[in-house]
Amino acid sequence: MLFRSPTITLGDKLRGLREFKRPLVERKPDDWAVILFTSGSEGTPKGVVVEHAQLAQYLAWAEATFAGGEAVSMPLFTSLAVDLTITSVWLPLVTGGVVHVLPTEPDRALIAAFSTPGITTVKLTPSHVSMLASLPVSHTAVGCAIVGGEALTWAHIDVLRRLAPTMRIVNEYGPTEATVGCVADEVDVRARHEHDEPDVRIGRPIDGASAWVIDARGVLVPLGVWGELLVAGAGVARGYLNQPALTAARFVPMADGRRGYRTGDRVRWQRRRTASGMDDVALEYGGRADDQIKVRGHRVELGEIEHHVRAVPGVRQACVRVRDGRLVAYVVGTCTDLRTHLRAVLPPALVPDHVVMLDALPVTVGGKVDVAALPEPVHATPALAPVAAIAVIAALTLVSLNAPLRYVFLMTEVLVAVLFATSLNLLMGYGGMLSLGHAAYYALGAYTDRKS
Ligand code: AMP
Repeated sequence: MLFRSPTITLGDKLRGLREFKRPLVERKPDDWAVILFTSGSEGTPKGVVVEHAQLAQYLAWAEATFAGGEAVSMPLFTSLAVDLTITSVWLPLVTGGVVHVLPTEPDRALIAAFSTPGITTVKLTPSHVSMLASLPVSHTAVGCAIVGGEALTWAHIDVLRRLAPTMRIVNEYGPTEATVGCVADEVDVRARHEHDEPDVRIGRPIDGASAWVIDARGVLVPLGVWGELLVAGAGVARGYLNQPALTAARFVPMADGRRGYRTGDRVRWQRRRTASGMDDVALEYGGRADDQIKVRGHRVELGEIEHHVRAVPGVRQACVRVRDGRLVAYVVGTCTDLRTHLRAVLPPALVPDHVVMLDALPVTVGGKVDVAALPEPVHATPALAPVAAIAVIAALTLVSLNAPLRYVFLMTEVLVAVLFATSLNLLMGYGGMLSLGHAAYYALGAYTDRKS
C-alpha cells in the first residue's frame, strides 16, 4: 500500500523575499520559540517555555548528526503539541528536505512513513515500532530511524532491522524541558551479544549538553550506581510558564552559570570495553525515579518491574500500572508463564497480581503508551468452572448405563479438568474449583485478555 502525501514547493513563491535585506521579524536568542504543555503531577498541564537559542542548538546537533550535508525528508504524523514532532518538522526544513504530511492514524501513518518514496528518516517512539511489527510493511528504503520518548529494547531494534538490515537507528533521550533530545546513542547491534547487554543504552550528552547522575542529596554517584539524571547546557529550556516555584524546584543553577534540569529519570553510567581496548561509557535508562508507588505497604518502582517483565522471553512490550491497589502488567508478546519468571527475579510484592495480554499497547497522539486507555483487567468468571464441572457430572450420570460411551465421557471429564487446572494455575484438588472466588483466581495469577 502506498500513500501519496501532498508536496508544497515554496521555491517560486519565496523568490521575491530575497530582496529583503533583513529578516521580516528580528529574533533574539532568548525570545520564546515554542511553549509545549506536558502533564503535571498536580493534575493541570504545565507549559515548558523553549527559547530560540535552545531550539537552534538542538537543530544544529540534529543537522550535524542526521543530515551530513544532505537533505533530510521526514514524515509528519505525530501531534505538533509534543516535542518529538519538532524533529519531524524542523530537521527537513533546515536541511532543505521535504516534510511529508501523513494521516495521523498510527497504523496508516506508519505504513506510509516506511513506504513513501523519498522519505529518508523517520522519528518515532518505541510504541510505534511495536505497532509496526504487526503492520503489512516488509521492507523500507528509510535509511535512519530516530527513536525516542520511551525505553528502547532489542525487540524494537529487531523490528526495524527486519525492514532494512542496514538501517541506522539512533536512540534519542530527552524530556521536553531539555528540548527534544539531550542524550543520544547510535545503536550498536553487536553490543547486544558481545557485551551481553539486556537494554539499549540511551547514550551520551549531545553537543552542548552535559549529564550528571546524582543521588537524592544532589551528590554525584560513581559509575555503575543508579541515580537521578541531571542534564545541563544550551538545550535546557527557560522553565515552566508562570510557575516560578515549580521552575525553581526542577531547573537548578549550575556552578558554571548554566541551567540544569532534574529529569526525575533513573540512570547509571555503564562502561563497556571496545574491541580496540578503549573504554566506552554511556548512560543506561532505568525508568522514572519518581514513579514510586506503594503496593500493600511496599515501595514499588513501576519502571523496575517493567524492566524485568520486558526481559522475560517472548515479551515484546510491557507496561505496568496500579489498578485498585493491585499491580497489573500489560504485555504484548507470546509468553505463557510470566509470573513464574518474575517470581525468580523480583521480591513477592513486586510480582504483578494480574497479567493482561494485549495485541498492542494503546498509544497517544504523541506516540507514547496511553496509560489512560489501558483496559481494566477483565475478571474471567470463575462461575464457569463449577458450571462446566456440573455439566460434565450430569453428562456422566446420563450415560452411566451406557458402557461403551462411559470411557469417552471419562476422557472428556479428565480433559475438562486439566483445561481448568491449567487456566487457573492450579493442581486439581488445590482448594477445590468450586470454592474459588475472584480474589483467589487472581492471586494465583490469571492471564486475561479483554479481546478474547
Ligand atoms: P517528554 O517530555 O514527553 O519527552 O517525556 C520525557 C520522558 O520520556 C523522559 O523523562 C523519560 O522518562 C522518557 N524518555 C524520553 N526519551 C527516552 C528514551 N530514549 N529512553 C527512555 N525513556 C525516554
